[in-house]
Amino acid sequence: MSSLFTARIAGESHRYAHVALEQGLEKPGGLTYLIPDTLHDLRVGDRVIVPLGRNDRPVSGYVLNISDDADVDPLKLKAIASKDRLAVNLPDDLVELARWVSRYYCCPLGMVFATMLPAAVKKGIGLVRKTYVDLHDPIATIALASIVHEHGLKGKQADVLGVALEMARLGKMPVDPKTLAHAAGAKSISPVTGLIERGLLKQIVKTEVQAIWAEHAVEENKHLTLNDDQQKVLDAIAASLDGAFAALLLHGVTGSGKTEVYIRAIEEVVKRGKRAIVLVPEIALTPQTVGRFIGRFKHVAVLHSGLTAAQRHQQWTLIRDGWANVIVGARSAIFAPVDNLGLIVVDEEHDGSYKQDNAPRYHARDVAVKRAQMLGATVLMGSATPALESYYNATTRGAYKLLSLPKRVSQQPLPRVEIVDLLDERRKRSEYTGKGGIHLLSVKLEQLLRQTFKDGGQAMLLLNRRGFANYIACPDHRCGWIMKCEHCDANMVYHVSAAIPSGGLVRCHYCGFENRQPTVCPVCSRKVTMFGLGTQRVELEIERKFPDVKFARMDSDAMRTATDYAQVLDAFKRGEIRLLVGTQMIAKGLDFPNVRLVGVISADTALSLPDFRAAERTFQMVCQVAGRSGRSTAGGRVVIQTFTPAHPAIALAAMHDYVKFAADELAHRKRAKLPPITRMARLIVRDEALEKAQAEATKLAGVIRAVKDDLNLEASIVGPTPAPISRIGGYHRQQIEIAAENAAVIQQLLAAARSADLLRSDARTAVDVDPISLM
Ligand code: ADP
Ligand code: ZN
Ligand code: ZN
Repeated sequence: MSSLFTARIAGESHRYAHVALEQGLEKPGGLTYLIPDTLHDLRVGDRVIVPLGRNDRPVSGYVLNISDDADVDPLKLKAIASKDRLAVNLPDDLVELARWVSRYYCCPLGMVFATMLPAAVKKGIGLVRKTYVDLHDPIATIALASIVHEHGLKGKQADVLGVALEMARLGKMPVDPKTLAHAAGAKSISPVTGLIERGLLKQIVKTEVQAIWAEHAVEENKHLTLNDDQQKVLDAIAASLDGAFAALLLHGVTGSGKTEVYIRAIEEVVKRGKRAIVLVPEIALTPQTVGRFIGRFKHVAVLHSGLTAAQRHQQWTLIRDGWANVIVGARSAIFAPVDNLGLIVVDEEHDGSYKQDNAPRYHARDVAVKRAQMLGATVLMGSATPALESYYNATTRGAYKLLSLPKRVSQQPLPRVEIVDLLDERRKRSEYTGKGGIHLLSVKLEQLLRQTFKDGGQAMLLLNRRGFANYIACPDHRCGWIMKCEHCDANMVYHVSAAIPSGGLVRCHYCGFENRQPTVCPVCSRKVTMFGLGTQRVELEIERKFPDVKFARMDSDAMRTATDYAQVLDAFKRGEIRLLVGTQMIAKGLDFPNVRLVGVISADTALSLPDFRAAERTFQMVCQVAGRSGRSTAGGRVVIQTFTPAHPAIALAAMHDYVKFAADELAHRKRAKLPPITRMARLIVRDEALEKAQAEATKLAGVIRAVKDDLNLEASIVGPTPAPISRIGGYHRQQIEIAAENAAVIQQLLAAARSADLLRSDARTAVDVDPISLM
């Protein structure tokens, strides 16, 4: 880089730093600041406080590079105010990874850095001030020894100083005053204080992260013998650990012993003196999962939302300081500051929670692949239902190596799945009873539930919709009133609420807006009706039909904290709870051997959404929840209720046939030119005024189309059009969808819009590269 100005002011030489601000000012190279003499040891990756704007408002940022030359007039430059309180520094490999994330996901670099650090670390939560003592002059240890006599020190003070000298010799100073006093046989710290007063010891105050770690190990059978399939997979992983970068996709049916394979692979990594990160979907990060790893490895750190801020800070520090060998965490743990990384495991790699839904909209699995590639490490992605992106990469594209565990451990079969056609069911019921209407539980499902409870088994019922009813409407369809959110283009959902005894409340699932439930239609005053099912309805039905069965509802309304979730799972594990009713929260990764029946109340909830992944999601959900059944020799059954029994997502899930589903769906995506065959980016322009959103979006689409034509690129650009949910939280949403054969074309188009300064503010224009939600 050529310098415009020579860095000399009044004969003094100065150094300069480029700083990327956390708030995400879009200036690719960062802003230039002067490095004051007090910060002579500043490094790339340091978190710093700098003055910004006319009022020199202090803001946080990260040092991108340090140079002897300024690229702007040095006289106009401001100086960096200070380093971050804890001298937080991001290691070089994370700085490099951040640059990639910033480029690929079109997000200002400073915001990417900010995402890499837990909020607790940035805010300094959980810090304590601790006092230590040290020799006044550690170098003069020997000279000091004679002082003991000169000063005529006697008794405890002499003993303490003697011990202090010895500790210094062994490199154990500074030390906590109590430890020192105790080591010298003193009952209190007063001899230590005395020595400080005499100037023989000095006091040092340090700011530290509080030590409050408490997670429990789960007793694990460490001596399982891997079956042949597991051993073959482990051998392949171990071989890749000794080579360069490798990306492995493990397709293993539910209960095939994937977790055991991960653990063995990590043992291999640790044996080689390297470290591992294990990514798990947030909801699967139960104490059980964490406990399995803690039970098998000595130095495990965890990062998930169930920790307090102070705990998270402590865990992060344990990783940074090199204590942790194994890091288990949710999405953002991919940015753990661990060195010597040998393996990244991405469990349930198809899970949607790996994609962040605000800037930077990164996908932790894809970042994991990138991080492994940059470091020459191995990334192991595992799932019973791999994302089609990953499967395509492992098969057609040959970018990943495909490994598989086709059978459950110890020869247990996959559970038998029965499909109940709800149309048929309704017809039969009205023939027998003369009454139609919807019954939550089909005859078959109800009968199997009774049987299961009678036999002492446990069960799970899945309905992937929260609340009680998702339509509140006028019964007169000529009136046609249906209750919508005031701020969104979305229906209000009825929730039974303990806080409102006379009924319940209505809530918007997009913006969280709540209101009392209306009793009459505001247009024609008829009494409102409610339809559409939610988990609360299922709860009511179970209470009515199985009054003696202890059960729990598990969805994000009922499970407010990680503790709620852990408690319910514990009670379920102990057998106190016989039945779990829930959203897909119950579909994820749970391993309870006594579950002998799984029922899907409606497999159709996701199928009708205007999203090209609707079938894939339905297939995954049905397969995953079915996989919770029959994990012991008692066997298991699954009942799926649906209005579309012939739909391949349901029919093939019932046959546990992932490979056929994937092949058919990929063929369809190819015909329709959809991901993963093509790559996609989605831009959402938001504004409170519809016209303004439209105008901005039109301008943006125009620029992108012009670039496409200029560079003669092959890409499809659709829009602006209203997003499927055209308004959320009072903001109108206009979308532009870009699709192209490869990611590089998308990158070129976005880079052009970015340098035209049209993708600046995340609040107004959201960029989503490789979107997984199209609502
Ligand atoms: P997955 O992650 O594929 O669903 P898990 O790793 O949770 O499967 O394994 C399911 C169950 O089987 C666990 O209880 C685990 O301890 C057990 N298991 C795993 N491997 C073996 C093995 N080789 N022999 C016996 N039991 C095993
Ligand atoms: Zn709303
Ligand atoms: Zn009405």
